[in-house]
Amino acid sequence: MGDEIDEQDISNLEYFIIPGVDVPSSLKAKKFSLEYPEISYWSAGLHPHEADSLEDIKNELQALMEEADLIGETGLDYYRNLSSKENQIKNFEFHLDVSKELNKPLIIHCRDSFSDVFDTLNSRDITNPIILHSWTGGNKWTKKFTELGVYFSISGIVTYDTAHDLQDAVKKIPIDKLLLETDVPYLAPEPFKGKRNNPTYIKYTGAKLAKLLGLTPHDLSNVTIANTNKVLNREQ
Ligand SMILES: [Zn+2]
Repeated sequence: MGDEIDEQDISNLEYFIIPGVDVPSSLKAKKFSLEYPEISYWSAGLHPHEADSLEDIKNELQALMEEADLIGETGLDYYRNLSSKENQIKNFEFHLDVSKELNKPLIIHCRDSFSDVFDTLNSRDITNPIILHSWTGGNKWTKKFTELGVYFSISGIVTYDTAHDLQDAVKKIPIDKLLLETDVPYLAPEPFKGKRNNPTYIKYTGAKLAKLLGLTPHDLSNVTIANTNKVLNREQ
């Protein structure tokens, strides 16, 4: 995250969510969001990469969660395993507990961890909206997670030539559970793959997803805006 938001970069966005991944970035997300109170939302959370530090910052994080619009991002990342598995699960469960108690949407990062994320969610009675961010699952996991009633947020990955399984699986996501995201500065969609991502590039991700679903980009945009309104409990 840079030090300010460039107005140009958000010119085609209806509204946007600024996620935190630890205490300093959650504070920064809050600061940015206060500059755009009508169109931005922010989250407070501790990324699985940082899960080993949970006990040191728990109180500070929880105070931020009480103020934030959303909780996360949290989840499990067994690809990079930068924190121990045990601490990642503890951290994930902490976010699940707090988000449920506060009845706020929860943003989940799920990388090489479908089975444990599924089991953790499935063992609970979930009452708040759950967002699987930058969803990459194929048909099998998409079907399983659909049964939990969660939202699937699609990033620029869906535009990549290599993403055949995801391109197939998005067609199986219930239309009222579909969201779009940028994951800026990561995961720039084609034709910008490998470059720094920009929020305005959401239109490329949207166009690809619309094509896969047989919708116009405008219709898809109406769908994802309506779904986001529901997640954020936003007046229409
Ligand atoms: Zn993530």
